[in-house]
Order: sequence, then C-alpha cells, then structure tokens
Amino acid sequence: MVKARAARPGTGAKRPELIDKFGRRVDYIRLSVTDRCDFRCVYCMTEEMRFLPRAEVLTLEELHSIAQAFTELGVRRIRLTGGEPLVRSNVMHLIGQLGKLPGLDELLLTTNGNQLGQYAGPLRAAGVNRVNISLDSLDAGRFRRISRVGGLERVLAGIDAAIAAGFDRLRINSVIMRGYNDDEVLPLVEYALARDIDIAFIEEMPLGEASDHDRVETTCSNAWVREQIESRYPLLDSTVRTAGPSRYAQVVGRKSRIGFISPVTHNFCADCNRVRVTVEGRLLLCLGNEHSVDLRAVLRDPARDFDDLKAAITAAMDLKPERHYFYDRDHPQPVRLMNMTGG
Ligand code: SAM
Ligand code: SF4
Repeated sequence: MVKARAARPGTGAKRPELIDKFGRRVDYIRLSVTDRCDFRCVYCMTEEMRFLPRAEVLTLEELHSIAQAFTELGVRRIRLTGGEPLVRSNVMHLIGQLGKLPGLDELLLTTNGNQLGQYAGPLRAAGVNRVNISLDSLDAGRFRRISRVGGLERVLAGIDAAIAAGFDRLRINSVIMRGYNDDEVLPLVEYALARDIDIAFIEEMPLGEASDHDRVETTCSNAWVREQIESRYPLLDSTVRTAGPSRYAQVVGRKSRIGFISPVTHNFCADCNRVRVTVEGRLLLCLGNEHSVDLRAVLRDPARDFDDLKAAITAAMDLKPERHYFYDRDHPQPVRLMNMTGG
C-alpha cells in the first residue's frame, strides 16, 4: 500500500502542473467517494443496480493519497461526488483531512441534498467552500418519479440548512427532461432567484442506457431551456467562469447566476481542465471516453510508492483524448452510468 508522505509546506519553488498533449492544464479533479446512492434517478441509474464489492472500492486512506498526489501535482480544486458522497460511511473524516491539504484552493461537493439537514454545518466547518445540490422538480410526486425513491421536503430542508451554513456559493443542478419536468424551468429558476443561489441546467448525457426512457426523446437542449427563461427574464451573459464547464448568465439586478452545461449541443472540450477518479481508483481522463489508468493497482502494489503514484498520474495526461463524441455513430458511446463516472 502506497503511503502518502507528510504534506510539506511550499518551498517557494514553482508548482508543478499537469498538462495534456493538447496543452490543456488539468487543475481540477472530481473524486468519486462511492458508487452507491440513496436515490435512483432515472437519468443516472437503472432501477435494479449492482454496486461494487467493498474490496474493489478505495479506502478513505487511499482516496486521501490520491487527492494529496494530485494537489502536489498542481491540482487546486477537488469536487467530491459519487454516487451520493454523503452515504459513504466516515466520509466526514476524509473531508476534514482534504480540507487541510496544502495547495488546495477549493473543496467542493455535489450532493442530492438528502443528508444535508445533518451534514451542512459540519461540511462547512470541515472546509467545503461550495456545494452543488441536485433538484429536478418542485412537485413532490414528480420528484419521486424522477429520483424513484427521494422525498422532496427533506431535500428542500437540506437546501435551507446549506443556506444557513454559509457556504461561499450554493448551486442547484437541474436536468430538464421532456415529459418529466420540462414545464418546471421557470419555477426552478424562481426558486433559486428567491434564495440568491445559483442554478445550472445540465443537458442529459448518454452515459449508459437509461432503463425507463429513451434519452433521444427526453433530452432538452439548453438553447430551449434558455428560451423558456428568457420568455420572462431577459438574461445577460456573464464572463464569470468557475472551475467547471458551465457558461453563466444573469437576470439583471439579481444575485443568482444561471448556468448552462451543454455537453450534448455545445462541445466544451477545448478548454477542459479536469479529470475524474472513480471509486475503484480508475483515473478517467474524459467523461465521454474510456481512456483510463488504474491508480488502485499502483496504490495496492507493495513495490510501488507515493512517487510512483504521482508518476502514473503525470504519465496519464498523455492519454487524455481531445474531445467526446456523444451521439456520434462513428465513435463508441460510453457504457458507464453516471454513478460510476462521478458527476
Ligand atoms: N448524487 C449526487 C447528486 O445527485 O448531485 C452527486 C452525483 S450525481 C452523478 C452528479 C450530477 O450528475 C447530478 O447533478 C446529476 O443530476 C447529474 N447527472 C447524473 N446522470 C446524468 C446524465 N445522464 N446526464 C446529465 N447529468 C447527469
Ligand atoms: Fe444518486 Fe446523484 Fe445519481 Fe441521483 S444523480 S441516482 S442522487 S448519484
């Protein structure tokens, strides 16, 4: 098992950088801490799911070693995701440790909000800067239909707890699907505006096969979503960029930012700055391709050490593909579901 060295304070030397062969600097990772979840959202999972056996899942210590290796290689932001990160036992211990990593500018979390009533305060105290919370409907019946098992009231209470905890920013993530919630664009925007929090609309991506619908029929383009918003609120494009792929706009005079993440209709790969690590320790170089490196094998090889882990990560940058090809018949499509990918 690779042991991470004690973190050293900066020496003033130039920080290393991870650069891929297209000249893109990778300074952001999405680290999946579990493939499990307390919901079964229709766009993310099938109804019957088999999850990874425990032996294949990285331990909290291994997750920490990976995060430390990346920060020593110049990564400045880590987003914890899954599956649902807050169902991983002892995840708060890991988060507390990550919050202290030298060189990390921001620790971020994406959650379904179901456990936020309990965890919002401790997450803020542990150093989490920003939280994204998924919310696809404000109607309890529909919320249940989309999440298959979730309860709307509990998630709304979790969002209130997150607002009270005082994170730097909060963002709602909504996937708009034709026939499910396509008449809720304006209510969701108004929910965010009323609370001065951000909202981002994510186009449904063809990651694995959805079991209860045909994605081609349900996917709504963000151009269409934006039209719905502009029918009531003129939007001004914003130059603000956060670490991720969202393009932001603003309603004049309001604090909330409205983000559009449009992987299906607008290829944003040219300025991709991120990679993902699945909870099996697979360093996934692109959301829409299978190019990957097995970091767990390095971590669990008694003959290899922390420097070998860093060397494996550095070498992997050469494998990062130029772009994804969603819905392009000339290219293989991902078979991984989103919970295995780390959203
Ligand atoms: N469980 C957490 C949550 O729901 O926020 C974190 C993991 S989830 C996989 C991360 C994000 O991916 C969520 O905002 C979810 O809506 C989004 N997502 C899942 N499957 C998707 C798909 N096929 N297309 C687009 N977004 C998807
Ligand atoms: Fe769970 Fe998030 Fe996937 Fe929904 S989107 S099933 S909450 S991991």
